[in-house]
Amino acid sequence: MSSHLAYLVLGSNLGSRSTNLANAKTEISALSETKILKESEIYKSPAYGPIDQPFFFNLALEVETKFSPLVLLEHLQKIETKLKREKDSHMKPRTIDIDIVFFDDETIETPLLKVPHYDWQNREFFINPLKEINCQAQEFKNFSFD
Ligand code: ADP
Ligand code: MG
Repeated sequence: MSSHLAYLVLGSNLGSRSTNLANAKTEISALSETKILKESEIYKSPAYGPIDQPFFFNLALEVETKFSPLVLLEHLQKIETKLKREKDSHMKPRTIDIDIVFFDDETIETPLLKVPHYDWQNREFFINPLKEINCQAQEFKNFSFD
């Protein structure tokens, strides 16, 4: 099976944010067929979107994986559940959110998974940590940041 390069952004704004991020990293590195190659520092950011909620800690990971995009998503969602993310926490405080921002240079448009992440260009808390780890996705490298 071939290897893929995925870029993930993790976020937490409930409970002990840095512990939640550390636990998520531990779970991701424990996945079979998957290895964390690079990780950014933690970035603090105000909550994004229409609803007023506590600030986030975010970080980006470069991950090598042999999973397909959907299988990777399934594993990441299991980790979210394990770390006690409540169901229906879309746009609400959550202990952990794991988003796949890029998966190689693939474009995926399914109900369960859209890659590149549909809103990455507007989110500094994706862009800044991804810059730090020198994101290799072509769409990221081609984007004009100023
Ligand atoms: P958000 O991350 O926008 O706050 P959620 O984490 O609640 O929202 O995710 C809602 C749904 O988004 C998930 O059930 C998942 O199937 C879907 N989804 C679509 N594209 C992606 C992606 N690139 N990464 C992670 N989840 C995604
Ligand atoms: Mg998410």
